[in-house]
Amino acid sequence: MKERASIVVEEYLQVIYSLLSEGKPIKAVNLANRLETSPSTVHATLSRMQRDALINIGKKKEIELTEEGFKKAENLAARHRLVETFLCDTLGIPWHEVHTHAHVMEHGLTPLIEEKLAEFLNFPETCPHGTPIPGSNKTLPENMIQLDAVKNGDQIEIVVIDESLEDSVELMRFLEEKKILPGKQHQVLETLAVTKTIILESEAGQVTIPFDIANKIGVIPVEE
Ligand SMILES: [Zn+2]
Ligand SMILES: [Zn+2]
Repeated sequence: MKERASIVVEEYLQVIYSLLSEGKPIKAVNLANRLETSPSTVHATLSRMQRDALINIGKKKEIELTEEGFKKAENLAARHRLVETFLCDTLGIPWHEVHTHAHVMEHGLTPLIEEKLAEFLNFPETCPHGTPIPGSNKTLPENMIQLDAVKNGDQIEIVVIDESLEDSVELMRFLEEKKILPGKQHQVLETLAVTKTIILESEAGQVTIPFDIANKIGVIPVEE
């Protein structure tokens, strides 16, 4: 059996992969911020990952995943989203906190458990927050826009809550309480440029969402 990357390396791969999908520059300093660790620790791990051919470090200190590194990172993302689905749908752990638990559990899965878990869950296409699971052929809809781009009076359906919001359990709890969940429909009451907020009418009542959170929520228009 091929040796698995250590948990620390797995966490680095996950952070690099999410910075990549957010289109953010990948530098040691961004990693140190995300991982809440010191730059010297980050440098030590990065040299190890470079030695193991998981990453390349460019002239401007930009970090790139190698083909092998990308494959590993994508597999970790798939495993994370699969475990979240299991925790939410099968074990009934609340939607807003499955991310935290999955983060601990995902590192202990062997490839066989992962395969059996996917089968047991009938090959889910997204995590409970709407992010597509790599390998499922699912992609986000082409007509998807971010919630901060909607107009007054629009009827919209939530598609995805960006993974970058998942770390904030309190925010996720708020979104869950207000039914800002994939598949739920809402009416846009007002977008207020002056206060940079959007007011939605949901089945849970009126909810005010700031633009900087709304731009991390993907929605599609609903034809009436
Ligand atoms: Zn997650
Ligand atoms: Zn998720």
